[in-house]
Amino acid sequence: MQEPARTLPVLGEFDVVVVGGGPAGIAASVSAARRGARTLLVERYGFLGGMGTAGGVTNFAGLYGKRDGQMQQLVHGVADDLLARIDAMGGLNRPQDGMQGRIRVRSYDTSVYKLAADQLLVDAGVQLLFHAHAAAVLKDGARIAALVVETKSGRQAIRANAFIDASGDADVAAFAGVPFSVGDGNGSGLFPTTMFRIGHVDAAVAIDAVGEFKAINDVMARVQQAKPGEYRFPREGAILRPNIDPREWRANVTQIRNAQGRAMNGVDARELSDGELEGRRQIAEYFRFVKAEVPGFAQSAIVEIAPQVGIRETRRIDGAYALTGEDILSSARFEDSIGINAWPMEIHGDGRIEWGFPRDQGRTYNQLPWRMLLPRNVDNLLVAGRCASMTHEGQSAARASGGCFVMGQAAGTAAAGLGAGALAATDVAALQRQLVADGAWLGD
Ligand SMILES: Cc1cc2nc3c(=O)[nH]c(=O)nc-3n(C[C@H](O)[C@H](O)[C@H](O)COP(=O)(O)OP(=O)(O)OC[C@H]3O[C@@H](n4cnc5c(N)ncnc54)[C@H](O)[C@@H]3O)c2cc1C
Repeated sequence: MQEPARTLPVLGEFDVVVVGGGPAGIAASVSAARRGARTLLVERYGFLGGMGTAGGVTNFAGLYGKRDGQMQQLVHGVADDLLARIDAMGGLNRPQDGMQGRIRVRSYDTSVYKLAADQLLVDAGVQLLFHAHAAAVLKDGARIAALVVETKSGRQAIRANAFIDASGDADVAAFAGVPFSVGDGNGSGLFPTTMFRIGHVDAAVAIDAVGEFKAINDVMARVQQAKPGEYRFPREGAILRPNIDPREWRANVTQIRNAQGRAMNGVDARELSDGELEGRRQIAEYFRFVKAEVPGFAQSAIVEIAPQVGIRETRRIDGAYALTGEDILSSARFEDSIGINAWPMEIHGDGRIEWGFPRDQGRTYNQLPWRMLLPRNVDNLLVAGRCASMTHEGQSAARASGGCFVMGQAAGTAAAGLGAGALAATDVAALQRQLVADGAWLGD
């Protein structure tokens, strides 16, 4: 049907508008505002954190990796400021190791993350527009003249000199006509997961029984052998881990397929809706198993089902450079590095997870190039986070929070410096100097 043209009120005019309040959008907006740009962050929910809160992820990955054979925190910059605030409010867990010491993560309290992110952005001078869904762009040649948002006050336009798409789904880039791929390019992709948290656990008993990273999978295998047909598990490689208060555990165990048995498509409205139902159905079934079979969980209860199905991968733009799986495995270096990714390839395939670790186990990180933020055909747009320019395999690694903070900080810093020209003409050496001055580590 044809929609009649209409005139939109202009909500405001800014130097930088960031769409999406996940790790990439948080780092982008804070960095832009700290560089003196009048910055607005547009977020469809009423809180920040993206998949980290709305998707119930509850865990920072990709911040730590091995340098000179030593496991250490390698992602720095805005990420440090956010972690420090979460820690100061008692919401940050000590580092947890897994996969025979090849990965290190920090879990956190989701509510504290929301509080800390609010404070971080407000203190940096970022203006926030919650409950606003980016719905379209208005273009002027190769530039985006305005972002169109749907709000409770109706449809409105927001003008800016530069835009950052940190929507995770490359919504803004897609509206602006930037070429992209979805998932693995063959109708599937990284499978989504609805996360949930289990409380009232007998911590000592549970840690003794399933405290090791992969121990829950041994329990699942044993129970399946002893009671064939009693439980159907959506995938191998379940993750059930204690949070900062070990009476509470996070469960990353579901896997959402579409009617064709492929990964649910997170940018298909009907599949998204069906996926929410399926995720909660799987949670009920898995929790029946946990309560009956896993030591320490007999008196436990589900304390939260994540507000939305967790989406790992949807659109990825086809930008000036696409980070590849080989870049991850070879610990790649780039002259236009904006920081590093320290997470291995983590492919959530059909019924299982496949890991791909860097060959050099003394240097388990790769640099991220500036070019992966750059769409080819829009002058004043950068794309940061899990929808930046990467192949399916490259994205399976750099989509973790650590890499998204890095991309966001670089995007915000660069966008704040844009004049009348194009972002493609950014002085990369000057950008790198600024990032280092602001605490980022670009790798060596
Ligand atoms: C189940 C699951 C488990 C994971 N486990 C981990 C883990 O243990 N550790 C880890 O570090 N990472 C993990 N990840 C990956 C990580 O959480 C995400 O890849 C990361 O959050 C991506 O950051 P982002 O900022 O690019 O996008 P997102 O976190 O997806 O944030 C995008 C934001 O944009 C908003 N938005 C989207 N569209 C619009 C629109 N049109 N208008 C306005 N706002 C919009 C969203 O509401 C959201 O707040 C996991 C992901 C999933 C799904």
